Amino acid sequence: MIKIHNFINGKFIASDKNLEDINPANGEKIAYIPNSNRKDVDLAVQAADSARESWSALSIGERAFWLGKIADALEIRSEEIASLESLDTGKPISLARAVDASRSVANFRFFGEFAKDFQQENFEMDDATNHVIFKPVGIAGLITPWNLPLYLLSWKIAPAIVMGNTVIAKPSELTPLTANLLAEVIHEVGLPKGVVNIVHGLGSDVGQAIVEHPKINLISFTGGTTTGKKVAEIAAPMFKKLSLELGGKNATIVLDDADIEATIPGVARAGFLNQGQVCLCGSRIFVSKKIWDDFVPKFVNYVKNMKIGDPSSDDSELGALVSFAHRDKVESYIHLAQREGGEILCGGKSPGLDAPFDKGAFLEPTIVSGLSHLSRTATEEIFGPVVTIHPFESDKEAIEMANCTDYGLAGSVWTGDSERGKRVAEKIETGMVWVNTWLHRDLRVPFGGIKNSGVGREGGRWSLGFFSEAINICVKNS
Ligand code: NAP
Repeated sequence: MIKIHNFINGKFIASDKNLEDINPANGEKIAYIPNSNRKDVDLAVQAADSARESWSALSIGERAFWLGKIADALEIRSEEIASLESLDTGKPISLARAVDASRSVANFRFFGEFAKDFQQENFEMDDATNHVIFKPVGIAGLITPWNLPLYLLSWKIAPAIVMGNTVIAKPSELTPLTANLLAEVIHEVGLPKGVVNIVHGLGSDVGQAIVEHPKINLISFTGGTTTGKKVAEIAAPMFKKLSLELGGKNATIVLDDADIEATIPGVARAGFLNQGQVCLCGSRIFVSKKIWDDFVPKFVNYVKNMKIGDPSSDDSELGALVSFAHRDKVESYIHLAQREGGEILCGGKSPGLDAPFDKGAFLEPTIVSGLSHLSRTATEEIFGPVVTIHPFESDKEAIEMANCTDYGLAGSVWTGDSERGKRVAEKIETGMVWVNTWLHRDLRVPFGGIKNSGVGREGGRWSLGFFSEAINICVKNS
């Protein structure tokens, strides 16, 4: 049994109250984590406050050097990151290697290199020069969900510290293992104490205490839209800098000229990667009526053949959902889909795996047709391996249907004509759209949503701008 401690002021601090961490693939306990409270957050804030002056006094280049050291030390432990992430979340090990482990290393390396070019800007007037400098904001509160644990935590910690802030991070209590590994790495490389503090526990206690703390100047939150609203209600009147990366109900649009055989694996990946537990997953699939009869049976057949099973096995394409409570929530949407008149084309039930996975939170990948695109199943975020599929007549109708939710995070368009795909993409009301691909990430580009999917952008210069204050100094020519 792993025993995890908070990491505050460069030390691992035990807690007398603990929460259990469960492996969702077989229901076994894997770790105890601190059930922290407001006092632990206070302690972390004191540490972050003490470290602020000396850390912010370093140059960006000096801080980038530390990011490089963290990236190197994480890379050595890549296989361990993948195993822990798979154990904690139930995701397939191949995915944890390809996405979670590699991106966590890449986030530190990328922001370390990218920040070196994020320089002061100068604007000349006839009689004066403006110098725009970027100062740290102060203490950053970073709150992250369970679906991509270290990937998302490192996506916030790296830009926050390279811009000279000190941080208090709260990972999801469902998936604390790799945040603990990161604390070990930070300890081992000798990052100055108090720069990164990790406090484990419940969102309602630790998360809320971070958002409410008057000395925390900035909140970067990734999670559900309902929680994001609560965070905003507290942080906004305190005038904290706020970034909200929230839920999605993303459209996948398959136009009539798409190459069906080539498109199906991409559409299935967009629908079911990480058991559909990626905020960017395409869970509403719109298919042109002209190709519907050809596309749908082939797509159903492809999805039926996706291999679901032991997350630690190299050939599993789908693993368990993150928890039993979440599996029950996703299952309740399958029942809702049936009540709303939907037809389950495949999946809809537990896969009936052998022991010990018969006790796991598994659910077959599920495709539902016959629902209105305005039904609850087709408009509410399910965040699991459930997609709805709908026919459309024209590109215009596909765009209207795609825009019919309160969310606006991502989307994808599949077509034989990339110019036509781009024209459709421009009309979709989301922060990101891919054409003939999905989750194809360049870390320099803006990442974030519109409508109920969030406020603000992270990624590249948007992250560096968010984690700093742009100050203008106007000097009159002598
Ligand atoms: P969640 O329930 O909103 O939780 C996110 C984080 O917030 C967790 O660490 C949670 O702690 C914490 N939290 C809960 N209540 C809080 C409060 N009152 N104050 C401060 N923090 C609080 O979301 P989730 O179920 O973990 O993650 C799934 C959601 O995240 C989905 O909606 C998904 O779309 C979204 N997501 C969005 C993005 C994006 O980039 N837009 C990326 C990934 C995921 P506990 O775990 O202890 O509750």
